[in-house]
Amino acid sequence: MSTKSNLRTNPDACPLASKCGGCQLQNMTYPRQLKWKQARAEILLKKYGKVDKIIGMENPLHYRNKVQAAFGRTRGGKVISGVYQSGTHRIVNVDSCMTEDETADRIIVDIREMLPKFKIWVYDEDRRTGWLRHVLVKRGFSSGEVMVVLVAADRKFPSKNKFIEKLLEKHPEITTVLLNINDRDTNLVLGEKEEILYGRGYITDTLCGLEFEISAKSFYQINPVQCEKLYNKAMEYASLDGDSKVIDAYCGIGTIGMVAAKTAGSVIGAELNKDAVRDAVSNAKRNGMKNIGFYCADAGEFMEAMADEGESADVVFTDPPRSGCSRKFINSLLRLSPGRIVYISCNPETLARDLGLITKGGYTVRRITPVDMFPFTNHVETVVLMSKVKE
Ligand code: SAH
Repeated sequence: MSTKSNLRTNPDACPLASKCGGCQLQNMTYPRQLKWKQARAEILLKKYGKVDKIIGMENPLHYRNKVQAAFGRTRGGKVISGVYQSGTHRIVNVDSCMTEDETADRIIVDIREMLPKFKIWVYDEDRRTGWLRHVLVKRGFSSGEVMVVLVAADRKFPSKNKFIEKLLEKHPEITTVLLNINDRDTNLVLGEKEEILYGRGYITDTLCGLEFEISAKSFYQINPVQCEKLYNKAMEYASLDGDSKVIDAYCGIGTIGMVAAKTAGSVIGAELNKDAVRDAVSNAKRNGMKNIGFYCADAGEFMEAMADEGESADVVFTDPPRSGCSRKFINSLLRLSPGRIVYISCNPETLARDLGLITKGGYTVRRITPVDMFPFTNHVETVVLMSKVKE
């Protein structure tokens, strides 16, 4: 939808918008973006109930706590770093981005400028020559800790100590530096092997009063400011007490379940990705939580087994990927018949489909609130409360 002529309608639009393509709503001012998202949620969801006003950001700029830059060269040989032009493998040189953390952007630009002095060559995907492929920076917004990951084609890093010394001199806020080896012909940024060059090899951050350990590979919420608002809304809808039995389906690293476990009696999380489950277990331990457990399983199969065993739950949180909940999950959810269902969705289309199935199964939608997790993009996140019709 974002054509060049549309971009002219917003005087503050990013100058790289038409090349980069990462932000679909650059042609709109922020208040208009919120209206657009509200309207989109209403078109798809209003037949199920009133859509409350979208929760926007007070300051929608530089919200991303994780920034990834690809490194390459122009035809003239100049080193560039930034994002791939959407749909291509061409790098758009980025100095600063409206959605990215400013410290992270400055670190990446400084690394780019340091490369020639240290005779570090950037990787050439066609010729398979050179060394540095990407730089990944993660910053804990509440801890202030910063991780820099240099992703390179092999582990040879001749001027390693001097380079890190110089980088830390320019950016004393960096708390850890890693070297990740990606020697494969792949679109994935990170390779399997990594080496800690400085610090602990991970950072920590606090979200909703809980401490999380963030490694180079682990998943963590990209916009922690809005994430707290989303989870607070989800908890308000769940109205938990010390007796509540809770299921956190599609739980990722267990953030929603852990926030719930602060109030609830017990929580069980289910997640398919085994690395995420491992992080969930260690995060729960880190926070001294004893009333939460995690299963590595397909959410549908997990719910089916729970229903077969005649288990019950007071509240089920479900936060599926864009494809929504599976039929098996929804059928088993209806058999399990929890008092309340809190559905957190990153795709209003599959949400509308799933609400259709769940409301046919004896539930009614009580509340719907969209939350803007990704300003300037067309993503719409929504949290929905459902409970049984006869209650
Ligand atoms: N609730 C988490 C993450 C939600 S993202 C949070 O708030 O951080 C959706 C999650 O669903 C991802 O972690 C993904 O790995 C997981 N997932 C995808 N398909 C799944 C399935 N069939 N069963 C269980 N988990 C699945």
